[in-house]
Amino acid sequence: MSVGICRICGERKPLTFEHIPPRATGNDHTVKVYTAYREHGDGGLNADAITRSMFGDGDLDDLKYRQSQRGMGVETICRDCNSYLGVNYVQPFVGLFDDVRQSATNVLAEIGGRKGQAVGLDLRGFPPLAFFKQVVSNFCATADGMLDCKDFLLDRENTDFPERYRLHMFIVPDLGAYKLMTGWMAYLFKGGGACCLACVEYPPFGFVLYDRGRSSSLPDRAGDITELSRCPWGYRPEGMTLCLPVVDAGDRQPYLWGRYPDAV
Ligand SMILES: [Zn+2]
Repeated sequence: MSVGICRICGERKPLTFEHIPPRATGNDHTVKVYTAYREHGDGGLNADAITRSMFGDGDLDDLKYRQSQRGMGVETICRDCNSYLGVNYVQPFVGLFDDVRQSATNVLAEIGGRKGQAVGLDLRGFPPLAFFKQVVSNFCATADGMLDCKDFLLDRENTDFPERYRLHMFIVPDLGAYKLMTGWMAYLFKGGGACCLACVEYPPFGFVLYDRGRSSSLPDRAGDITELSRCPWGYRPEGMTLCLPVVDAGDRQPYLWGRYPDAV
């Protein structure tokens, strides 16, 4: 167990392994973990916020990967933070994850791979805020410099998700697809300027987090779930459907995920 700065509370403490997605989703066996960031010799993550752009590569061949025997995850947050997340957010997350994964074999298989498709995700009975916070914690653990999410994550009732971020959610129908955690990446515009985003993908879900504060502009994309961060703690909707874009698991350009069919 290594000692370092916890990515959530910002304190220097022994760091524990955080499963992404949670172990209860079945994330407990050997996986290849692809990363778009460089790693230090000690296995820690590079502190550079933006290390490279992976866009345009089209595949994973030049990305580093390492084998993880414990499933996919990182050792970047402390035990206290880890257990706070575990107690408050993991169960709601796993419930929705399992629900979607079970329906994936039929519903998602039908629409799988057809770009521009969207599916309705029924959130009835699921607590949106807990789910949202679990996802944000995945980004904190894998993308550097998100200590401004500390209060939002460590006070379960807090709904002040920093204005700086915008979170998008996608459905990845291919359950055998790669899992991916990119850290921050910069999509560089030809005319100058950049869009800063991070991606976490574990089928059937994929997420893209945009950093408004470090982007000259953000693209117009479907699947924005940022508003879920304003739902009160304990609120379980009787009727709420998220309209989520379906992405092709082979599409390695998260910047383009959720683009409207006629607006490439
Ligand atoms: Zn911590």
